[in-house]
Amino acid sequence: MNKLAIATPAIADDGCAISDRPIYVTQPHLPPLEEFIPYLRQIWDTKILTNGGPMHRQLEEALCEYLGVEHIALFNNGTLALLTALQALRITGEVITTPYSFVATAHSLLWNGIKPVFVDIDPHTFNLDPAKIEAAITPQTTAIVPVHCYGHPCDVEAIQKIADNYNLRVIYDAAHAFGVRDAGGSILRHGDLSALSFHATKVFNTFEGGAIICPDAKTKLRIDQLKNFGYVDEVTVVAPGINGKMSEVNAALGLLQLNYIDQALERRKQIDRTYRELLEGIKGIRCLNDAGEKRANYAYFPILVGHEYPLSRDALYHGLKDAGIHSRRYFHPLISDFPMYRGLSSAHRSNLPVAANAAQQVLCLPIYPDLDMSVVEHIIRFIAAQ
Ligand SMILES: *Cc1c(COP(=O)(O)O)cnc(C)c1O
Repeated sequence: MNKLAIATPAIADDGCAISDRPIYVTQPHLPPLEEFIPYLRQIWDTKILTNGGPMHRQLEEALCEYLGVEHIALFNNGTLALLTALQALRITGEVITTPYSFVATAHSLLWNGIKPVFVDIDPHTFNLDPAKIEAAITPQTTAIVPVHCYGHPCDVEAIQKIADNYNLRVIYDAAHAFGVRDAGGSILRHGDLSALSFHATKVFNTFEGGAIICPDAKTKLRIDQLKNFGYVDEVTVVAPGINGKMSEVNAALGLLQLNYIDQALERRKQIDRTYRELLEGIKGIRCLNDAGEKRANYAYFPILVGHEYPLSRDALYHGLKDAGIHSRRYFHPLISDFPMYRGLSSAHRSNLPVAANAAQQVLCLPIYPDLDMSVVEHIIRFIAAQ
């Protein structure tokens, strides 16, 4: 049966642009503006704008509860959270990481004077392949920085086992993984630290923002000092810290966003389900990682455009764009192909065949809470009609 036939024909199937407005791969979720005004009024009344004010404290508490973690340190963005996580654990030398991610993952290493060592990804999850990590370990290796790519959990147990065997630290780039759980609880509890991003394009946004999940109060205290120039009190500075503090306005928005997050995740799930159901049977198109009944966050909807599909991935990307649909080739190019990395021996394509292939085939389709189901159906009709 042609499943597309049951899709409501909300728009004439004539190949024209679906909507007057372009459809982007994501659109930030925003709460009703009126609901934000009381928060702003409170900030105006207290005149506390930053430096760990009441909104900041409340958001830390609320996030610990929502995410099911013990300690969290808020940041002004995810990249500074990553940079500071590396500083907090005094990571030096070489760090094993994935080439298949947003460029900030590796940039945070270079900014800390650390040499990234790229290891290939697993062909099913597109996360760092634990089976390939050991071969990349040298006497200089101090840590592993994996990414829960698209919000799909890494093989956390296999990674921890290697880390324990070789006395390495593990810092997860969990920028995609807000709210994701496994059987034992939050995915963010794994490793030594996890860094989150609350950027506008992420599942949970504070316009700009980020956080580090810390295992204990002592680590959080050190990270709180590092994000505030290394200050301990008015006259004591214990480390060359940075300004990584989240402002009260961003924290207030986060508090309000939390009221809507479950609704937003549910809506993403419905879109994910619809894509999967209607894309099934289109020759040459494969969907990645069905979360099934696990607690996922449906942050992205990656498909793989294989050789059996009539168009190349890039031709489909451009075709969709011409029809007003802006999909994204996350992650192409690979981080290891950017000029500041490609001289590294680990950046060579022959070392990263799975990642290189993924970067050639992947296309992330639009997914966000306010995306109209008729647009989803139209995108699928477009893909099916080539
Ligand atoms: C978004 C993102 C970051 C950076 O977060 P910002 O908040 O934009 O600084 C880091 N790593 C990954 C994998 C990301 O997707």
